[in-house]
Amino acid sequence: MMDTLSMNLSELEAFFSEIGEPKFRAKQYYLWQKTGTPLDEMTNLSKSLRQKLSETVTDTLPKIERKLISAQDGTVKYLFRLYDGECVESVLMRYHHGNTICISTEVGCPMGCKFCASTIGGKVRNLLPSELLGQIIAAQRDDGERIDNVVMMGIGEPLDNYDNVIKFLRLVGDADGLNIGYRHISLSTSGIVPRILDLAKEEYPITLSISLHATTDEARSAIMPVNRKWNIQSLLDACVTYYKTTGRRLSFEYTLIAGKNDKEADAKALASLLKKAFAGTGAPLHVNLIRVNEVKETGMKEGTLEEAEKFADVLNKSGVVATVRRRLGSDVNAACGQLRRNAQSTDTKES
Ligand code: SAH
Repeated sequence: MMDTLSMNLSELEAFFSEIGEPKFRAKQYYLWQKTGTPLDEMTNLSKSLRQKLSETVTDTLPKIERKLISAQDGTVKYLFRLYDGECVESVLMRYHHGNTICISTEVGCPMGCKFCASTIGGKVRNLLPSELLGQIIAAQRDDGERIDNVVMMGIGEPLDNYDNVIKFLRLVGDADGLNIGYRHISLSTSGIVPRILDLAKEEYPITLSISLHATTDEARSAIMPVNRKWNIQSLLDACVTYYKTTGRRLSFEYTLIAGKNDKEADAKALASLLKKAFAGTGAPLHVNLIRVNEVKETGMKEGTLEEAEKFADVLNKSGVVATVRRRLGSDVNAACGQLRRNAQSTDTKES
């Protein structure tokens, strides 16, 4: 399979030289690709070259299968169809600091978190670098406005698709490509410790978000099976190493689940856990509180906004900066995994 959208410019030049085309053609094609323009509209390429490319290249740019626009806040949820018929979701959110896209990193997810819709049914496959990049390209082309920030918080575990994510990071920052700076990119992980340590050694100064969600190993293992392999202590140790190596800010995600992890005592335990782990490092500590999105299969219940704000107060008073995540796009099923699941069950019904 020839996947030119996964190639950087020098790889593309090598490919063009193999098919007997000059370097500058590779550059022209490279510039077209990042705009999501279909091959037959790449008007400065000859018909014969376009023909040659259509015979050798697999078009891996995700195609819009469904698009839902939130009437509340303008959030756009895309269901993308991939070249092999699989689907993933992306969400485009509008903040005062610019347009932010939340992209998926895998078709399905192997991690098995108990509250999450994306992992029901397991992992189907990794997304290619071109499919990671392509979600941004396709959304930007459709929306018409520049996308400024990227978060890898959609379907999948980015550090389980490590090599393709790294290749994607190399592409997305390219000045001739999408030119999105690493400080505008964040990656969220459920806590694959060895890959966090690998990531610390790469030269990409992105923001790392850690899905923590609990303060004891017993409670965390009950909702996140990954914790049985790498417990809270080993995860926080890796975070400290990441901070010391990169100097980059980390943030912690904490999903509030009614009656499970949302009491005042949990907030206090969370503050002291983080403060102890990062003692002496000078790292700013930031927790994003997310009220659990109820997914009918998981049975997890959401508490009230007031309770979430109280939880945040306790953290803030203990010196850990906490914000309750605004709920964007709740009228368009913006919580990850739900649209893909609906599409799958519709497919099954129809077939
Ligand atoms: N696998 C990565 C990235 C994708 S999940 C990770 O685990 O971080 C992105 C975030 O959404 C994670 O913090 C995840 O725990 C959270 N999440 C998943 N399902 C949720 C739900 N039903 N309600 C609230 N947050 C959820």
